[in-house]
Amino acid sequence: SKEMNGKPLVFLDSAASTQKPQVVIDAIADLYSNYYANIHRGVYQLSQVSTEKYEEAREIVKNYISAASSDEIVFTRGATESINLIAYSYGRYFLSEGDEIIVSEMEHHANIVPWQQLAKEKKVVLRYIPMDDNGELLLDEFYKMLNTRTKIVSLVHISNSLGTINPVKEIFNKAKEIGAITILDASQSIQHTKINVNELNCDFLVFSGHKIYGPTGIGVLYGKLDLLKKMEPYQTGGDMIKSVTFERTIFADVPGKFEAGTQNIEGAIGLGAAIKYINSIGLPEIMKYEHQLMKYATDKVLEIPQVKIIGTAKEKASLISFILEDVHPHDVGTIFDKLGVAVRTGQHCTEPVMRHFGIPATTRASFAFYNTFEEINVFIESIKYVINIFD
Ligand code: PMP
Repeated sequence: SKEMNGKPLVFLDSAASTQKPQVVIDAIADLYSNYYANIHRGVYQLSQVSTEKYEEAREIVKNYISAASSDEIVFTRGATESINLIAYSYGRYFLSEGDEIIVSEMEHHANIVPWQQLAKEKKVVLRYIPMDDNGELLLDEFYKMLNTRTKIVSLVHISNSLGTINPVKEIFNKAKEIGAITILDASQSIQHTKINVNELNCDFLVFSGHKIYGPTGIGVLYGKLDLLKKMEPYQTGGDMIKSVTFERTIFADVPGKFEAGTQNIEGAIGLGAAIKYINSIGLPEIMKYEHQLMKYATDKVLEIPQVKIIGTAKEKASLISFILEDVHPHDVGTIFDKLGVAVRTGQHCTEPVMRHFGIPATTRASFAFYNTFEEINVFIESIKYVINIFD
């Protein structure tokens, strides 16, 4: 119902962050209005209820990704913090000089920079699986890279700038054959596709709440229990301890060991409400609808000869990145905004992807189940409008 510049808002930037369903807003308001107190501390009823709701959210996440236990779910600030946590608490302690970490050319900076920092500190080697000009990973190159020094394979499931769905199961199965740890960046897949951590053979999985219709400032780190147990804490202080004396501290069991300080209580509860909402619609229904939306949009875009789609993998989801001949994406974005259409322009935190294609930036339209076919038509008309102006 929102208008932007006098036009009905067409929000096509869900890959950056999603809008929030009323039930999520209500769940947060309900906490603050009716049962707010700090968690894990008070013996009084308010604190017990908020603790229960917080832990219930952990259970909802556990079920959503088919984890074995809710102890495998750690709440963080987001995908970025989750990856940093793994690099810090696993990488720093279990990798040594000459070990290798494999990521890909299409990673978000959040899955590159923490590993570069670790590589500097531990003298480990960071390798990148290359991709072709469709935005598909070159698996043969990956197989050649694998060796006994490969300790971590960390991969994006769905690329946030190309839309490629990577064959992560196949890649992780190979990585497991040589005993590497596998990490799935599910930031762009958790809201669009069914994820079962055991089927995908991942040891860790990360995502942000704000991309799956939940609040900002909350995220998830899933980790296999045996790994989480042997890892050192990421941050230390209150709430992550069993006992503190002047001489030593005994840490809490997982997941508490990784949740130092007062947590984002409303974030976790809002995320739980968001996942419940998705479950109530049904992920298979969402996937079916979004697939139709994506196909409709792609077919329409392909009818416009001046548009070049960046990312033409066979398996794609949720977004279209494109460039227009002789028009800078920022100009596209600015004109779109005047038309009420919100898209993202830039490098999308994937500078190496832009370098691969020899372009400074793209315009990215990304879709969610709340988008309509009518909105796709507005998007297509907006592209034609921009082309006309620059003609
Ligand atoms: N990975 C991918 C694939 C992403 O799209 C994003 C967000 N754009 C991130 C990681 C980082 O997420 P956040 O900024 O919420 O930590």
